[in-house]
Amino acid sequence: CGIVGYIGFREAWPIVLKGLKRLEYRGYDSAGIALIDDQNLNIYKKAGKVKELEDFAAEKNLSGSIGMGHTRWATHGAPSDRNSHPHTSQDGQLSIIHNGIIENYATLKEELISRGHSFNSDTDTEVLIHLIEDIYKNNEVDLSEAVRLALKEVTGAYAIVVMDEKNPNQLIAARKGSPMVIGVGQGEYFIASDATPIVEYTKNVIYLNDNEIAFLKRDELEIKHLDNVVQTPYIQELELKL
Ligand code: GLU
Repeated sequence: CGIVGYIGFREAWPIVLKGLKRLEYRGYDSAGIALIDDQNLNIYKKAGKVKELEDFAAEKNLSGSIGMGHTRWATHGAPSDRNSHPHTSQDGQLSIIHNGIIENYATLKEELISRGHSFNSDTDTEVLIHLIEDIYKNNEVDLSEAVRLALKEVTGAYAIVVMDEKNPNQLIAARKGSPMVIGVGQGEYFIASDATPIVEYTKNVIYLNDNEIAFLKRDELEIKHLDNVVQTPYIQELELKL
């Protein structure tokens, strides 16, 4: 339902939390966040309001200058802590947030189970991060290529953000049929499912197109078509006022 992501030089948690609150108007049943602090991935998620996530996370480790948050509107799997996003790969290294529906998740899930995967949720989303992991581990490709190859096997609609605990210098985002905006700062990038969480930090935005995948480092951005062709990012100035 709602997506917020940050990579830069500030603490990610306050930015992501505030972003999730700005997206509350869309309606949702659960909220969650993932942050990487010195190659340690911390995920906190809760069914209910963003405020409940905030209270739950209050005494926990919330540091890290890379992070992502999600508000979920359940489509596959009842609203619960367990089914809330972010979801992780089998080995816990990769995490994902996702808006939309992976239509062929049941077939993919069966295949992955036969290859030794087990699942902690009833969501279509968890299947996608396991698929990415499977491709990443069994082929000599980097994570961005694994995400691209996985998305080529997926049918349905999605906006996703993927993080790698072992590489806290990159966020990967992609979309098809579900909106995704990238805010371009100086040494930092913002990601969101609409511009409202971004507008107070930067007016320079890129609207990701369908079938595009973005690789974000703190001071570097590359956008590719799912067919592997590099795209020239089109930076627009936001008119939106809050
Ligand atoms: N299909 C996913 C789920 O049920 C994502 C739903 C959403 O867009 O929030 O978990």
